Amino acid sequence: MGNTEKFLYLDNAATTKVDPEVFDAMKPYFCELFANPSSIYTFAGKAGEAVETARAQIAGLIHANSREIYFTGGGSESDNWVLKSVAEQYAGKGKHIITTKIEHHAILHSAEYLEKHGYEVTYLDVDKDGKISLEDLEKTIRPDTILISIMSANNEIGTIEPLKEIGAIARKHGVLFHTDAVQAFGHIPIDVNEMNIDFLSASGHKINGPKGIGILYARKGVKLSSFIHGGAQERKKRAGTHNVPGIVGMGKAAELAAARMQDDMVKVSAVRDYAIDRIEKEIPYCKINGHRTDRLPNNINVCFRYVEGESLLIMLDSKGICGSSGSACTSGSLDPSHVLLAIGLPHEIAHGSLRLTLSSETTKEDMDYVVDQVKEIVARLRSMSPLYEDFLKEQKQN
Ligand SMILES: *Cc1c(COP(=O)(O)O)cnc(C)c1O
Repeated sequence: MGNTEKFLYLDNAATTKVDPEVFDAMKPYFCELFANPSSIYTFAGKAGEAVETARAQIAGLIHANSREIYFTGGGSESDNWVLKSVAEQYAGKGKHIITTKIEHHAILHSAEYLEKHGYEVTYLDVDKDGKISLEDLEKTIRPDTILISIMSANNEIGTIEPLKEIGAIARKHGVLFHTDAVQAFGHIPIDVNEMNIDFLSASGHKINGPKGIGILYARKGVKLSSFIHGGAQERKKRAGTHNVPGIVGMGKAAELAAARMQDDMVKVSAVRDYAIDRIEKEIPYCKINGHRTDRLPNNINVCFRYVEGESLLIMLDSKGICGSSGSACTSGSLDPSHVLLAIGLPHEIAHGSLRLTLSSETTKEDMDYVVDQVKEIVARLRSMSPLYEDFLKEQKQN
């Protein structure tokens, strides 16, 4: 019998727990320092100062200036804002946008929206590891290209894109460069100057901060439309009373991430590689997805042939393990993940995917338990699959 008291959260790409230090930093801004930071009296000044401290903490993490950071309601909002703003502000130059096939839906669906409004979007292919081709990118740039939007790291397979090289190409051709850094921000180093990044999206809840808060970084001098019309908040670009506790929480989370990043990268990737190693050695007919080294420290994505991702997840859940599948079944669709299809996996293999995203607290012992369970469940599911039986017979004959 499995130990039903075990609980292992391995879905940190979906969201993370709020760090207790972050929660402590937020607390005073609910019941005590609750003022609207836009008010005049001294009492409001405290909330206003807290917002500016958070802005500086976040700017510091990406080597930006505080004045280039705009608070939003999360990563999705930042992605929507930048695509729609560049489309509006730079329509005079052209209506062509370049992105990739493996972006988050906040980018893909914003791009589709723009296509309906007269814009042309090129969706770059990626290779088998999920990387874009720099030559492809450069060839795709046209005189009417106004934006390149390429994610820093993929949320499903963890592959890190060559940001510095992309930024150099964008700069050489005078095209603005946006990166959806929601998975990378606070997890791997990003320098908006060294990488020539003009716009960057990040989110609080992917870095042990609260949900419903994010930022858009916009380089000084680039044109930015107002996204929410109303009051004068966020330099008149994003109206609405500041979410002070959320902002303070994201700032604190950014500060902690900066302090812990180097150690966490080493520690977490060691646990990741240990688990990947065991899976590859001990479970037959599996495939690790994503780039082996240019990879988020906490991401494991693996396909098991002749296994349904959903069945695997449900059985893992019964063992106290929270994972995720590459496929979008949970959102009501039976289509396999657009990311796994883009790296060239056939439908039937893409359906058998499992994503495990670790935290800095995940230990080798935790992963031993997980791999043991996965091994057992995969074997059980395969034993019930007539296709797997046929496959084994074929293997024997060859
Ligand atoms: C989670 C995520 C988003 C959305 O961020 P929210 O703050 O949840 O809106 C966007 N892009 C990527 C790559 C993500 O992982």
